[in-house]
Amino acid sequence: MALTGLQIFKLLPKTNCKKCGMPTCLAFAMQLAQKKAALDSCPYVSEEARQQLAAAAQPPMRLVKFGPERKLQVGGETVMFRHEEKFHNPTILAVTVSDTLSGGELNKRIESIKALEFERVGTRIKVQAAAVVNESGSADSFAAAAAAVAESGGLALILLAGSPDAAAAACAKTTGAAPLLGTTTSENAEAMAKIAAEHQCPLVAAAATAEELADLSEKIKAAGVEDIVLSPQAGDLGGRLRDITLIRAAALKKTFRPLGYPVLTEVGRIEKDPDRQAAAAAALICKYSSIVVIDDTRPQAVLPLLTAVMNVFSDPQKPVQVEPKVYTIGEPDENSPLMFTTNFSLTYYTVEADVEASRIASYVLVVDTEGTSVLTAYSGDKLSEKTVADAMAKANAEQLVKHRKLIIPGYVAVMSGKLEEATNWQVMVGPRESAMIPKYLQEVWK
Ligand code: SF4
Repeated sequence: MALTGLQIFKLLPKTNCKKCGMPTCLAFAMQLAQKKAALDSCPYVSEEARQQLAAAAQPPMRLVKFGPERKLQVGGETVMFRHEEKFHNPTILAVTVSDTLSGGELNKRIESIKALEFERVGTRIKVQAAAVVNESGSADSFAAAAAAVAESGGLALILLAGSPDAAAAACAKTTGAAPLLGTTTSENAEAMAKIAAEHQCPLVAAAATAEELADLSEKIKAAGVEDIVLSPQAGDLGGRLRDITLIRAAALKKTFRPLGYPVLTEVGRIEKDPDRQAAAAAALICKYSSIVVIDDTRPQAVLPLLTAVMNVFSDPQKPVQVEPKVYTIGEPDENSPLMFTTNFSLTYYTVEADVEASRIASYVLVVDTEGTSVLTAYSGDKLSEKTVADAMAKANAEQLVKHRKLIIPGYVAVMSGKLEEATNWQVMVGPRESAMIPKYLQEVWK
């Protein structure tokens, strides 16, 4: 946890010599706490103080990277609640691949996982990893299934085997894939750490309690592996949520390094029923599993989970926005309708879908309201006849259509008179609800 200015001050020489450019050591400490100064600016700080300050500057939860080019990253979180700052690294959703599958069945399973990709409010969201599980008990089958996932491309690899022989065989067949390697227990820790060090993979550590996980992470670290993902094994969902929350609090609030790692949960070990598994996965995404492994490949189960990840890991202080400009839907011409909405993503994509549903090619002018919805923007003075007129001028609306008619959201019908005066265009009041846009365009606009 970051040190306060006063805690830093206690570690400084307190001579007020001004060599650092600050009038006092206390002023320098305050600048350091706010990350506005570098420790090197003080030539007299002791080596002991330097080490303490460096240790305090380390993130309380380690950032762990894996997958091809180590592009997936988990951990590195700094707060318990997203409103305190934001959560940084979204939960990775992974789907299991049993190594009892082979040939066409195995390929079909891999392709069904790769197909779990969707577009939501203009962003592509997808399952990013496959967790190959050593259910066969055979090292060769495990290695073959791991190789098939790696060769198919597009999915990061999580290897879950209790046997170091199976883990070693799979790592040897997936060179360059940088898999996340499990499952390490107190019994096989040294052998697994040796394999992980050789192949430069992060390790999954599994134990029944948070205390045992802390001991295990220390053991793995002593064996030379720094990148660790914890997997608490309490039997039911309640137990897992309790342990994961405890781990997070110990890491972030107490800076307890042995638990300062991201967490992986195999949901199939808690729930077998697919619907209950999806519900458990949603709870684990909210609290605080960095990797959630499910068995389900049904799109209707996976899309809500990916949506939950997107929502939990958005910045609560920054509304999700689209670029303010004119969007074309279909192939509009100079006779097509022109309407405006705001640049709050959810508002824009709802309007876009409803205009598409009307099958009438249209222009949608997106007005910059700092990512707020129509009513919020209007009541907060971010949407007025002036902002709309300015947006129309910037978008060259005069050149887009020749009818000089602008459809406005029904919720801001009150601005129609002033907007007509400001633009010299005819203002048509559209529906209050976006869902009524198709009917409006088909029956009122024509
Ligand atoms: Fe204090 Fe070091 Fe700055 Fe001198 S250079 S005032 S000792 S912090």
